[in-house]
Amino acid sequence: IEHEVAKLERLNIIGQLAAGLGHEVRNPMTTIRGFLQMLQNKTDLLTYKSYFDLMIEELDRTNSIITGFLSLAKNKPTEFKRQSLNKLLDNLFPLLLADAYNQGKKCVFEPGDLADLDIDTNEITQLVLNLARNGLEAMPLNGCLTINTYMEGECIVLRVSDEGTGIDAENLLKLGTPFFTTKESGTGLGLPMCFSIADRHNAAIEVKSDPDGTTFLVRFPQPMEMNIS
Ligand code: ADP
Ligand code: MG
Repeated sequence: IEHEVAKLERLNIIGQLAAGLGHEVRNPMTTIRGFLQMLQNKTDLLTYKSYFDLMIEELDRTNSIITGFLSLAKNKPTEFKRQSLNKLLDNLFPLLLADAYNQGKKCVFEPGDLADLDIDTNEITQLVLNLARNGLEAMPLNGCLTINTYMEGECIVLRVSDEGTGIDAENLLKLGTPFFTTKESGTGLGLPMCFSIADRHNAAIEVKSDPDGTTFLVRFPQPMEMNIS
């Protein structure tokens, strides 16, 4: 156990250092981005416009890597609140619909009858957004992303299913490895974040994938009754 505690403390310190470093690096990046933007459309520099565009794009990518990393190395404690997962998803759904619409895709939400859960609103929102966005990105035009919830024995299940091209066996093993991405401007930090959020909620994530699509199942244990009087 002592070993474990030491390891946790070390991780915590690394997390704090990383968070600090992220913030420090961001400020100068903002300055650089501002000047690049100013030069980007200068008429006497038009020959170099594509270079400026690319520099700004790369800066933005760096920024999203830092964002992803900061949320992974978060040092805010998880705040569990007993609530309805369906209500959380209901609130989130317009955002997903807009994302889907902008990409020329569809999205549906089918809530099942559920017991309430002890979950951190921000963390579960992040988890759903990450899974849903991956699903949307994996699909061709007109593809439909389905989010649904149901009870399965003692578990509450959140299912995010897409009509994408699937994940091959080799890549399936790499899911959740930080920085693993097959996207040109991906960060490879979305799924690692999902796995660590699920972990903090004692939830398990299962992935099923074939060439017709991918399904992520997140199984939450039903909360234990607390009034043991
Ligand atoms: P990113 O989305 O930035 O690439 P993630 O950690 O969210 O990072 O995902 C890592 C990789 O896992 C993706 O690049 C993709 O190859 C694969 N992946 C995740 N979800 C899906 C999905 N629903 N369909 C197909 N591939 C997926
Ligand atoms: Mg992602």
